Amino acid sequence: MAEEKKEAPPLQRVLVVSAHPDDPEFGFGATVAKFARDGAEVFYCVVTDGSQGGEDPHVPDEELTATRYQEQRCAAAKLGVADITFLGFRDGYVEADVELRKAITADIRRRKPDLVLTHAPVRMLVTQGIGGFHPDHLAVGEATLRAVYPDARNPRAYRELLAEGLEPHKVREVWLPGFTEADHFVEVTPELLDLKIEAILCHKSQFQKPGIEDGAPAKWIRDRAKAMGEKGGFEYAEGFRRLETA
Ligand SMILES: [Zn+2]
Repeated sequence: MAEEKKEAPPLQRVLVVSAHPDDPEFGFGATVAKFARDGAEVFYCVVTDGSQGGEDPHVPDEELTATRYQEQRCAAAKLGVADITFLGFRDGYVEADVELRKAITADIRRRKPDLVLTHAPVRMLVTQGIGGFHPDHLAVGEATLRAVYPDARNPRAYRELLAEGLEPHKVREVWLPGFTEADHFVEVTPELLDLKIEAILCHKSQFQKPGIEDGAPAKWIRDRAKAMGEKGGFEYAEGFRRLETA
């Protein structure tokens, strides 16, 4: 009798590590909604306080942070996210250092994800220019990969976490959103696309900027999902680079 190929168990716990409130929705909101709809538990870990995400230098940081956390809760609720950790690092000042690695390691050990979604830690200047590569995104992507391997699985890393009951945990996969480097595509149905747009529109503070017309964010999202769909063989898609990390 031919031996049956064992299928990997489904990815049932998902942790999204993002630099700013709104990154998860822009990056892969439909994928988040799809996992939640299919019964996975999805958690967010938002690294910064979002205090640089505005055009008015006179708004106090705390006020903007409170607004952005509220917007993030609104968006996460629409997509079916179970819970959010706000790490509260200062927006714009993020480095992939030990302090951040430890904070992300703690959240990985707390949530025990099978899958982590985070930013790509590399610039692709030739194909994508400079705009898509916020330094905080690069730093969070790098710090998250360092936390996935080796920190979160290493019992000798940050031993004080053991005293908090945070035992080592091995993440099975990491998916990084990316255009030219994508090798894994998630089909986005029209229903999921609408949900993604609805979630993005929760981030009202991010659209009150000069030059952004009504309806523009929805158009960006549709255009991007269509372009990614063409690469992945769907009408609409979100694309990732998939890493096996177990
Ligand atoms: Zn961002």
